[in-house]
Amino acid sequence: TAGRDVQVRHDPVQTTDGVEIEVAANLGTTAELDGAIEQGADGIGLYRTEFLFLDRDQPPDEDEQFESYVEALEAFPEGRLVVRTLDIGGDKPIPYLDAKEEENPFLGNRGIRRSLDEDSDLFETQLRALLRAAANGDGRLSVMFPLVSTVEELETALDVVDAAAESLAADGIDYDRPELGIMIETPAAVMMANELASRVDFFSIGTNDLSQYVMAASRENDAVAHLHDPLHPAVLRAIDRSVDAAHDNDAWIGMCGEMAGDPTVTELLVGLGLDELSMSAVTIPEVKAEVTETDTESARALAERALSASTKSEVREIITDSQ
Ligand code: PEP
Ligand code: MG
Repeated sequence: TAGRDVQVRHDPVQTTDGVEIEVAANLGTTAELDGAIEQGADGIGLYRTEFLFLDRDQPPDEDEQFESYVEALEAFPEGRLVVRTLDIGGDKPIPYLDAKEEENPFLGNRGIRRSLDEDSDLFETQLRALLRAAANGDGRLSVMFPLVSTVEELETALDVVDAAAESLAADGIDYDRPELGIMIETPAAVMMANELASRVDFFSIGTNDLSQYVMAASRENDAVAHLHDPLHPAVLRAIDRSVDAAHDNDAWIGMCGEMAGDPTVTELLVGLGLDELSMSAVTIPEVKAEVTETDTESARALAERALSASTKSEVREIITDSQ
């Protein structure tokens, strides 16, 4: 069905048996908000805040960040805005923050690791801006941490949220607590998903990094692109395990890696139990159309077949046969 004409739907979509799947947009900058609205996004499932820090020579201050988060909240007054805290290092260097060269940047100091270490001041400033934005009347704010691999990292990050709240209270500034979650991007997070899920409100699977780490294949190296693919059964099983852990702990679970925007796998993702899919805005109309044609029982059967496959090509065949 790829490439067919589909109408833009601005209302939330359901499967044929009435299960609502949130279809949201990934956002780099607030300049992309209009496009997300035009394509019918239900909300923003991943606001990559790195972009606020790029193309300048010092970080944005608390007020500037606050304004940008409120702008995104106001664009979706009925929807949800998931903001990811600063995720730099690896493929996302920021010149004025990146002093040290690392030999293996993807296995190095990136994501939440930096926020809890050398960028801890920036992390607290960002959380203060986010907690202030959460007190804004429009939209629902959710905040998530990237590249979490241990319970300790999550607990430390949650402590910084508490500290930000206390400092705002001490300053007499209005704030609210957003929903809190983590990205599932490392095999360690998958293995510890139960313990992590019991401490948060939601998960969002970053399949770009999760595939890279599960398959030990760089997302930037063409020579191993055949391995860096979320359709490998190993990655599908990691997704399945994360979904179960989230739901067992009453947390919702979304996906914001590129896989979420591929309409040929929408039925599979619904079958795996994802509650939300977030993608680049252009693919939203097609994914929404796929959701409305999906029946959750057949989708679950499809997912079971894919999960019992031995190879990626078997998974592909199973998906093609179901279309
Ligand atoms: C991912 O890793 O899948 C993800 C959504 O994050 P990013 O692509 O920004 O690393
Ligand atoms: Mg990532």
